[in-house]
Amino acid sequence: MSFSELGLIPELLRAVEEAGYSEPTPIQRQAIPVVLEGRDVMGGAQTGTGKTAGFTLPLLHKLSRWANTSASPARHPVRALILAPTRELAMQVHESVQTYAKYLPLRAACIYGGVDIKPQLDELRRGVEVVVATPGRLLDHVEQRSISLGQVEFVVLDEADRMLDMGFIPDIRRILALLPSQRQSLLFSATFSDEIKKLADSMLKSPQLIEV
Ligand code: AMP
Repeated sequence: MSFSELGLIPELLRAVEEAGYSEPTPIQRQAIPVVLEGRDVMGGAQTGTGKTAGFTLPLLHKLSRWANTSASPARHPVRALILAPTRELAMQVHESVQTYAKYLPLRAACIYGGVDIKPQLDELRRGVEVVVATPGRLLDHVEQRSISLGQVEFVVLDEADRMLDMGFIPDIRRILALLPSQRQSLLFSATFSDEIKKLADSMLKSPQLIEV
C-alpha cells in the first residue's frame, strides 16, 4: 500500500515523499483512514511506530480543506490541539507538523513550560491553526487569555500513560472541559490501565480501537 492510496491531498504526499517515506507503517495504514472518516481513536502504539504521522497527516488533510489564507490572526483560530507530556516530545511533534505542513497554508506553534512565555505570546498573537503543547503551560496561556480553545475541532492526547505517570490528568481534564463537545478526539497510549480507560471513556465518543 502507498500513501496516495490513503487519499491524502497532493501537498501532503509531496511532503511525505520528501521526508523519504516510501510506504505507510502499520499504525499509519490503520489510523489514517479512520481519522479521515471523522471517528475518534483510541490508539495503542509505542514511539518509533510512526504514530505521529499517523495522526498528523490526516489532521492536516482535514484542516487544509477549510484553510484560511487571510493574514488576520482573528481568522486563524486554534483548530487542532495536540497535547504531549514533555517539552522534548512536544518539540518533536511540532517538528513533524512543520515537515508535513510545509506546502499548506497552516501555522503551528509549540507551547511548553520552563522557558520565557513572551515569545510564545508573540507567536500566538500572530494566529496559529495547530498548537502542540504541554498541559501546564497551555493552562498558563488560557489563564492569561493568550489562547482561546473554543474553536478547537481536533484534539490529540499523545502518550497518555506518561501524562498519567507525571500527574497531568487533572490538567488534561481541565483542558478538555474548555473544548467544544462537538470535536474529534484521539488518544494514544503505550499501555491501557484502568485510569487511561476511564479518561478515554470521558474524552472519546465511540472510538475505534487501533493497536499495533
Ligand atoms: P514516531 O513513532 O511517530 O515517533 O516516528 C518514528 C520515526 O519514524 C520518525 O523519525 C519518523 O520520521 C519516521 N517515520 C514515520 N513514518 C514513516 C514511514 N512511513 N516510513 C519511514 N519512516 C517513517
